[in-house]
Amino acid sequence: MSETNYEVIIGLEVHIQLTNLKTKLFCSCNTDYRGKKPNTHACPVCLGMPGSLPVVNEKAIEFATRMALALDCKINEKFWFFRKNYFYPDMSKNFQISQYNKAGGKAFGDNGYVTIKMDGVKKDIVLNRIHLEEDPARIVHLGSITTSPYALIDYNRSGVTLLEIVTEPVIESPEEAREFLNQLKLLVDYTDISDLNFEGSCRVDANISIKGYPRVEVKNINSFKEVESALKWEITRQKNLIKRNKTCEQETRHWDGKVTIPMRTKEFEKDYRYFPEQDLVPIEINEEYIENVRAKLPEMPRERLERLQKQYQLSEFDAENLVLNKSIADFYELGVQADSSFGSEEYKLYCNWLMNDVLGWLNDNNKSIAQTKLKPLQITELVNLLKQGKITSKIAKSIIDEMMKGISIEKILKKQDIKRIADKKEITRIVREVIEENPNIVSDAVKKPKAIQALIGKVMKKTKGQADPDITQNTMQEELKKL
Ligand SMILES: [Zn+2]
Repeated sequence: MSETNYEVIIGLEVHIQLTNLKTKLFCSCNTDYRGKKPNTHACPVCLGMPGSLPVVNEKAIEFATRMALALDCKINEKFWFFRKNYFYPDMSKNFQISQYNKAGGKAFGDNGYVTIKMDGVKKDIVLNRIHLEEDPARIVHLGSITTSPYALIDYNRSGVTLLEIVTEPVIESPEEAREFLNQLKLLVDYTDISDLNFEGSCRVDANISIKGYPRVEVKNINSFKEVESALKWEITRQKNLIKRNKTCEQETRHWDGKVTIPMRTKEFEKDYRYFPEQDLVPIEINEEYIENVRAKLPEMPRERLERLQKQYQLSEFDAENLVLNKSIADFYELGVQADSSFGSEEYKLYCNWLMNDVLGWLNDNNKSIAQTKLKPLQITELVNLLKQGKITSKIAKSIIDEMMKGISIEKILKKQDIKRIADKKEITRIVREVIEENPNIVSDAVKKPKAIQALIGKVMKKTKGQADPDITQNTMQEELKKL
């Protein structure tokens, strides 16, 4: 069987912690537990004490509605929570309160989709459902899960709201999965329900199979970044088994960060003995409520994409790149709106500097824009100085490093004694110097016009990049003709 005959089928279950909720799903414990002393953010409800009664966090319903609208799900207007029974120390009451779309139960929203773009081709990743559930406690192992002599349990996380997003098995490659997660993260950013930069705020379980062979579930992929590597590893494992005519078992495996390993648990849906949670009243969401949430919904990426193109006369490509990162797009709009004299040329220039130089710097330094001191107005100033011809783009590029520290351009230029040299006499003097010092390159340049760039490079070196490139180019050509 050739490589191309293996058709990969992937379905994802993404658990997103709604970190922007201040309290837990069924009690008023503070959700800000990261870095806090273990078991200090807990109460009888999230500890599962007998007799304690859960109450639904209204804001969690609103956040789930926001996401359901962003994903275009069909929202179920009446549902109740279920108990998912299992025995494990991360849920001290021995059941997790969740939603269940069988036995008379309903998910929060059905269907919906996320549009991805691969090599310019759009594809809708269709969803099965989204639902709310509580996060279990955190089990802390000493070293590896298999060798740790004991386990510690921190109930600070127990009861924090999770939104589970389940796709249909329509993802065909690890790259598609990565792109789906990128777009999903974008929607989470825009709906403002969670900050997925928080450690452990998103966890993924993946169902992976090669068409015609049994399905494997890989659990505990603890970050979006790891999903692609986990999928790649598992697909290779399954293909190798098939190639060697070995049977690939239907099983649950655990991703340990490098490889997938079999898990001991053999739980099936019936083992969970789902039944309605009698301690909570059914939830009713009417049309009016949904419309209210919709009206308050922030602008979504698709709408912003269209608006940016119209408002700032940007190309689809530029607008798309800006929208891909909400904080960058916010930064852009603050910067270009700060100067009312800006027109399409400045809008484009600002976008170029932000997307190429600033974003390049952020990527090189592995930082987000919020982690730097750069202010939107600094790029506004940069664009103005470039337009007025007070600095060259070479100078601009050379000061990006200092700008990221929040230092004003004026100060940087003064400190480094940088200014654009546009004086024709001054440039002519330097050009003649360079011609005199480099007879070999000059004789080359007379024959091959391309070699002129080497001479211009020498001028730039002498002037530390401050000579205006256009004037230098013209002067060089004039002076060479005179020879
Ligand atoms: Zn609590």
